[in-house]
Amino acid sequence: MIDFTLTDEQRLLEQSVREWAAREVAPYIRENDRKHHFDRDRILGGMAKLGLLGISVPQEYGGAGMDYVCLGLASEELEYVDTSLRVIMSVHAGLNCLTLLSWGSEDQKQRYLVPQAQGTKISGYGLTEPGAGSDARAIQTTAVKKGDRYVISGEKSWISLADVADHFIVVAWTDAEKKKQRDTSGLSAFIVERTFKGFSSGPMKEKWGILAGNTGFFKMDEVEVPEENLIGRPGEGFKIAMFALDQGRYTVAAGATGLIRACRDASVKYAKARKAFGVEIGQHQLVKEMIAQMESDYQASRLLWLRSGWLKNQGERNTRETGLAKWFSTVASERAAGDAIQIHGANGYSDEYPVGRFWRNSKGAVIYEGTREIHKLMQADYLLGYRSDRPTRCELPAHAADVKT
Ligand SMILES: Cc1cc2nc3c(=O)[nH]c(=O)nc-3n(C[C@H](O)[C@H](O)[C@H](O)COP(=O)(O)OP(=O)(O)OC[C@H]3O[C@@H](n4cnc5c(N)ncnc54)[C@H](O)[C@@H]3O)c2cc1C
Repeated sequence: MIDFTLTDEQRLLEQSVREWAAREVAPYIRENDRKHHFDRDRILGGMAKLGLLGISVPQEYGGAGMDYVCLGLASEELEYVDTSLRVIMSVHAGLNCLTLLSWGSEDQKQRYLVPQAQGTKISGYGLTEPGAGSDARAIQTTAVKKGDRYVISGEKSWISLADVADHFIVVAWTDAEKKKQRDTSGLSAFIVERTFKGFSSGPMKEKWGILAGNTGFFKMDEVEVPEENLIGRPGEGFKIAMFALDQGRYTVAAGATGLIRACRDASVKYAKARKAFGVEIGQHQLVKEMIAQMESDYQASRLLWLRSGWLKNQGERNTRETGLAKWFSTVASERAAGDAIQIHGANGYSDEYPVGRFWRNSKGAVIYEGTREIHKLMQADYLLGYRSDRPTRCELPAHAADVKT
């Protein structure tokens, strides 16, 4: 039986993240957003202290050893205040750390996962390129084996924390023939360090959302990567990249749920304060309709990500459920943010209120980690029998304390 009652540990975590974000981030977020400023010390320092950067990594690897529902709760609470915070959970804690935990060698876990989980090193994920997003097979980055090293050349774009992270999971072609045939068994995944010779990064200059976050590109100009940094086996890169997305999408779903709640709360507050035609605007049925829609979207989104978290705790495959949660909640968050602006009228059209920021931030999640259209196709394909999930060689470890016997 799925039990959605939060444990004491989960409730405590939710409360601590909520209080920290309200106290340490909310008062500064409007200014940081306006100045396009990633407040590194405050945000990463605070998140590390709370144990969030290694939240679901076992204690033996430097993490907090909390279950996957805690990862979702933290993501929801962080995005309630600003999407830029949750993005850190998605790329560092989700896409990168949980992938190394599941697919990394013991040596990689010691060298990379431990400092990442402790928060002394930050990590990212590089799949997208200027000419390849949804169509991951179209990437051009190559990794050529030379002795005991791989020489990687290529460019990754739209990478969260590109100018911040110390380590990246990078997907590249290791088989030139398979690259021509677009056969994904020619792709491999690597750990690339910022300090490696030939690595350079920069920001996406004209970005108009998640402005308090860092998004950029990085280039690899014949970067020599030791073969010990190959994750898994040669040819497993596509599976690893998709596995990582199962973890990242989960945090995106939980985060979008938090954003819907933020839109709902801001709208309720405004609807009680603003008067039109002699009454609070909340008295008008069409305003009520928008608020009621936010509530139903919030509750449904929360149940969907909680189900994914529960499946992860059980050690069960959840690609389908997580994809549905991500698709539903991100589309709903865009709707909620648009309606929150509507409820605020002209005031919503100004950054004096937070709802414009919510709307700009909401749009990103409808695009990254699988666009709305890609998720729609995936869900239809599951139903039509065109798609099914086969077991992978490595799976996310179950959270032992939560496995139902
Ligand atoms: C803020 C932000 C942060 C990001 N962070 C990262 C990161 O950390 N790491 C990373 O690797 N990437 C990251 N990305 C990139 C992101 O994952 C891609 O933008 C996404 O996969 C979509 O790819 P694209 O932008 O190239 O769009 P395209 O793939 O070019 O798609 C363009 C449009 O065509 C549609 N389309 C494409 N194919 C189909 C199809 N088969 N059927 C129907 N419609 C289709 C899409 O749905 C979309 O509407 C980030 C993006 C953003 C905006």
